[in-house]
Amino acid sequence: MVLSSVLGFPRIGAHRELKKITEAYWAGKATIDELVKTGKDIRAHNWKLQKDAGVDIIASNDFSYYDHILDLSLLFNVIPERYKKYNLPNIDTLFAMGRGLQREATETSPAVDVPALEMVKWFDSNYHYVRPTFSHNTEFKLNGQKPVDEYLEAKELGIDTRPVLLGPVSFLFLGKDDKDSLDLSLISLLPKLLPVYAEILAKLAAAGATSVQIDEPILVLDLPEEYKTAFKTAYKFLGEKTDIPKILIASYFGDARPNIDAIKGLPVAGFHYDFVRVPEQIDDAIDALTEKQILSVGIVDGRNIWKTDLSKAIDFVESAKSKLGADRIIVATSSSLLHTPVDLKNEGKSDPTITDWFSFATQKLDEVVLIAKAVTDGKDSVADALAANKKSIDARASSHITLDRAVRSRLESVTEKDSKRKAPFPERLDAQQALNLPLFPTTTIGSFPQTKEIRVNRNKYNKGDISKEEYEKFIQKEIDEVIKFQEDIDLDVLVHGEPERNDMVQYFGEKLNGFAFTTNGWVQSYGSRYVRPPIIVGDISRPGPITVKESKYAQSITTKPVKGMLTGPVTILRWSFPRNDISAKDQSLQLALALRDEVHDLEAAGVKIIQVDEPAIREGLPLRAGKERDEYVKWAPLSFRLATSGVENDTQIHSHFCYSDLDPAHIKALDADVVSIEFSKKDDPNYIQEFADYPNHIGLGLFDIHSPRVPPQKEFENRISEILKVYPKEKLWINPDCGLKTRKWDEVKKQLTNMVNAAKVFREKYATA
Ligand code: GLN
Ligand code: ZN
Repeated sequence: MVLSSVLGFPRIGAHRELKKITEAYWAGKATIDELVKTGKDIRAHNWKLQKDAGVDIIASNDFSYYDHILDLSLLFNVIPERYKKYNLPNIDTLFAMGRGLQREATETSPAVDVPALEMVKWFDSNYHYVRPTFSHNTEFKLNGQKPVDEYLEAKELGIDTRPVLLGPVSFLFLGKDDKDSLDLSLISLLPKLLPVYAEILAKLAAAGATSVQIDEPILVLDLPEEYKTAFKTAYKFLGEKTDIPKILIASYFGDARPNIDAIKGLPVAGFHYDFVRVPEQIDDAIDALTEKQILSVGIVDGRNIWKTDLSKAIDFVESAKSKLGADRIIVATSSSLLHTPVDLKNEGKSDPTITDWFSFATQKLDEVVLIAKAVTDGKDSVADALAANKKSIDARASSHITLDRAVRSRLESVTEKDSKRKAPFPERLDAQQALNLPLFPTTTIGSFPQTKEIRVNRNKYNKGDISKEEYEKFIQKEIDEVIKFQEDIDLDVLVHGEPERNDMVQYFGEKLNGFAFTTNGWVQSYGSRYVRPPIIVGDISRPGPITVKESKYAQSITTKPVKGMLTGPVTILRWSFPRNDISAKDQSLQLALALRDEVHDLEAAGVKIIQVDEPAIREGLPLRAGKERDEYVKWAPLSFRLATSGVENDTQIHSHFCYSDLDPAHIKALDADVVSIEFSKKDDPNYIQEFADYPNHIGLGLFDIHSPRVPPQKEFENRISEILKVYPKEKLWINPDCGLKTRKWDEVKKQLTNMVNAAKVFREKYATA
């Protein structure tokens, strides 16, 4: 019999229960017991759901209150002293590391003031993890036993799970050295780290776990030699232990072939690969197995929402079975289902023709089970399900929704000239002097706090409880307040605050042709922040202006320049669920043309500064060097330039990037006049250097927008001084790391005031010098 397995399930709850309770807990409106209870309920619900669907191997420890990588740091005591010194309960240490903590002293507890650890994108997904942060003082030891507790919790419900842990080699590789330990070689920590892995694994075995899933996703990256050899060290060490569960090493999101030699012959029970992304790796994966090892065949997409072509998937697994036998293969999701929405059943109102093409996490359970059954008992045993599946796959392929000939022919007629500004940057800079900006211009990244009032009004409007006119009036009032606020604190380049946007991608998707939406398709982005990615179902075009009304209005009520705000083509593509029937490049260029028209309309409406955000540009970079990456570094900047190059020289184009390890060369290729980059948590001094020869203007983010913490003015000044050692003053903009939508007004007010005042100190200094 061929078993079915799921590498992990979304942990946010079908109705975002986790978000609601965590945010209530942070606000002091829920107790720790209530938080813990919700967590427990979600876990129980997820396990039972999978069990009832007939999944044979169900993951545990895939749950987290914030981030599962951060959980592991906490478990292994990888907690920098600045957090540890407060002796907070574990869960509060977790949140402090994840999002910073600033609170005043009370009678029972001292004041706390600590920023968050660095957070970066999880491979090429829009999930963000908190980087394990190591130092010379890191003392590995078990701090609690979360994986064991959760294993036992499931066991009590009668469900024998397979616990999942990030593996030791990936844990180190994905981490960073703390600011006081910059000479630390992370891989040198491996010998000290392995015994704690062995310890937690032994505890899992003692609790009854017979096998564990150990994720080593870095297997799909180009690895330095010392990391390749580390796999041998690590798994030989663990393989020799007789008191731990069987280990399945899991890779996902890409091609593990270049690293297969590094894991070949390791004393583990088997390997998992992502065959949705890279089906071609099947032969090498099979060849690399020793006689008894098993192959977990990741064939149901954990990263997208399209229905699996079941017949094709069955044939694929069938061919693996013919080589290895039924006992040595497992049918699996390609990765954890963390990256997909929970349940299609919650999409009450959506168009049934289109939803019939989709499969969310809950539906994917059935797919995995069905494929396993078909491979065990033959296709005939699932004939009806296969017929229904074929019908919807065929319906999508031949649907008129997918093809728009006008869009295709416009794209064909694009020329080289369309993606070039009229003049090079120095000439544009001259023309832009008309904006009359001071030295060290201050600005923000776009959004201001999305208050409860905003959400309430948006909901009312969506439900039809208030009219379009009432809603627009409300938005205008918000813009009035945001503009007034920015004038009061004396920012130089203002924004309208994005109150009308539920989300920077969804908002654009809703105004473009070619997109479908979900009402409940939430996916965790980081911590308690979830997004509802739009779904690209067909060719993309712009039926009319998207943002012009709000930007124009904002500019009409102030004499200071207002920056128009758009989300860039690559980011819209990356943060949507893309089509799988045409290339990413074509989808991106279609988006670029739609945005080009929007940029044009903004300019015509008198908006002289336009920011086109591309925070996702880095996550789109193919994980490995090679042809695909070479192509991406051409078409991604091309898309941005196609969207932004239609403007006059005196229109200033900005762009923004965050939470990723950027390559300056890729940013240069966009030829934006001004870029802002998230920076406040980068404490490696070399990082300041990285953009030193960026030819155009630049703002390195000066405070962490994920944290309620207010850095004192002096801290801003110190940071600016440091940056000025490297960057000429004429180039430098002063701004936060990213948009302020998740913050509260009183926090933003203090943060921005300190930032602006710090800028003024330098402005005066250079004016008198
Ligand atoms: N303009 C967006 C905002 O301020 C940018 C957000 C982002 O980079 N993620 O919210
Ligand atoms: Zn950002």
